[in-house]
Amino acid sequence: MPFTPIHMGPGILFKSILQGSFSLMVFGWTQIVMDVQPLIVMISGEGHLHGFTHTYIGAVIIAIFAALSGKYLSELGLKLLGVSKKINPISITWWVVFLSAFIGSFSHVLLDSIMHSDVEPFFPFMMDNQFLGLISVPMLHKVCLYSGLFGAAIYFGFNLKVKRESKADNKREL
Ligand SMILES: [Zn+2]
Repeated sequence: MPFTPIHMGPGILFKSILQGSFSLMVFGWTQIVMDVQPLIVMISGEGHLHGFTHTYIGAVIIAIFAALSGKYLSELGLKLLGVSKKINPISITWWVVFLSAFIGSFSHVLLDSIMHSDVEPFFPFMMDNQFLGLISVPMLHKVCLYSGLFGAAIYFGFNLKVKRESKADNKREL
């Protein structure tokens, strides 16, 4: 399904593990770019629903495109959300942008290949999809939802700890 939010669950988990080395904004942008092609097929009724974009070779091209187009877009998004402040705005380094886009497109192909029978992840080398039905669709949704909740708990827990520690350090210095 285009723009399905279930992909964001694992994204939040990646963010909680990789912290500043991962951009959830770039990851999210990559999810949107990934599903532009299926959306066009759905609207026009023509073509292969999960075509070349949902292959690992397609994912490399999408990741490069999403990284190049997503860096400044994500920095703008962070400004609009108020995460990035006017003084000293957040600049996402290029390696973080590329890492996040690659994790985004590859995890997207993996999740969609479990769910959708028309995905051919290893095209043109292999036409069959061994990942199809690896786990049931309701189970897949649960895994994505819980990984998001678990990731959010780790993320906020970690940041709370960092804040507390820096407060304690400040006190010690006083
Ligand atoms: Zn998709």
